[in-house]
Amino acid sequence: MQRSQQPSFFDFTLDEMRKILFEKFQKKFRADQIFDWIYKKFEFNPANMHNISLADRTTLAEMFDFSVFKPTLVKESQDGTKKILFTLADKKQIETVFMPSNDRWTVCVSSQAGCGMGCKFCKTATMGFQRNLSTSEIIQQVLRVILDFKRPDNIVFMGMGEPLANYDNVVKAIQILVHQKALNFSWRSITVSTVGLEPKIRLFFEEKVPAQLAISLNASNQQVRSFLMPVSNKFSFEKIIETVKNLPLRRRQKIFIEYVLIDEMNADDIHLNELIEALKVVRERIKINLIPFNEFAESEFRRPSLKIINRWHKKLKENRFISTVRWSKGVDILGGCGQLATKRI
Ligand code: SF4
Repeated sequence: MQRSQQPSFFDFTLDEMRKILFEKFQKKFRADQIFDWIYKKFEFNPANMHNISLADRTTLAEMFDFSVFKPTLVKESQDGTKKILFTLADKKQIETVFMPSNDRWTVCVSSQAGCGMGCKFCKTATMGFQRNLSTSEIIQQVLRVILDFKRPDNIVFMGMGEPLANYDNVVKAIQILVHQKALNFSWRSITVSTVGLEPKIRLFFEEKVPAQLAISLNASNQQVRSFLMPVSNKFSFEKIIETVKNLPLRRRQKIFIEYVLIDEMNADDIHLNELIEALKVVRERIKINLIPFNEFAESEFRRPSLKIINRWHKKLKENRFISTVRWSKGVDILGGCGQLATKRI
């Protein structure tokens, strides 16, 4: 648990650190040297950074907190998924999920403690919004996974919280994740998932944030969507489609459309046909991920039958959509999509 009064080192991009450390030490390369120790060699103790003078090492240790938080609890699923509970300095708790798929590992990070978006199918929503995570708290989730397990192949902002409601801290974390002199992930390996905060989506593209975007749609019309996702009253179903239509995509970039299939709610044939019709105008720009609903005790919703899930997948393909069924990992430890909440890890 981090209790330090000093700012965390992981809150700063390389450009910011260059400025701060040049003012302090008058040495241009100091920040690059320290980034190398931290993000390449994973050496977090300034005392061991032997190419830096002893005096400067002491000053650095006084200036910044270099500690990486440790898990309060780790739960392991039968499928190899790990659900990691962290307790933050102010006692708030968040979860990170590290999951395998074939040979690739994905870390699912949280961007907020709790979430205020109130999606009806999501357990995190029952916690309500507690606070935004700092850039450092996002970076530390990734660092802890690297230190305790291995370097992930993919990073998804699909844990607790709505990442675009914590835009500045999330974008800064992404800058650190992709920087060659920091963690050096490719923009294609990072995905930010949003409920559809339209102005922030546009800003995300205007600023060319180096990450993929997923939009959690979950309905084939405004009526069902506004029932499942209250945010839809502000940013409507139609508005989302219109936004996707006009986003300036990179070469070969697609927007991921996430659709949680819930029995007798949004998974009937009528919804399937309606969705196909609504998404026709953006077919070339999207990939649809069907996510069979992950049940949890307090939820009134149920997962549809395999027959229904397969029908959706088949029909979308017949209609020339790129579509996959994403079976969540770690469902037995409540580590699947929409199952995160810290009261009962
Ligand atoms: S699905 Fe995402 S945005 Fe919606 S309540 Fe859950 S964590 Fe928040």
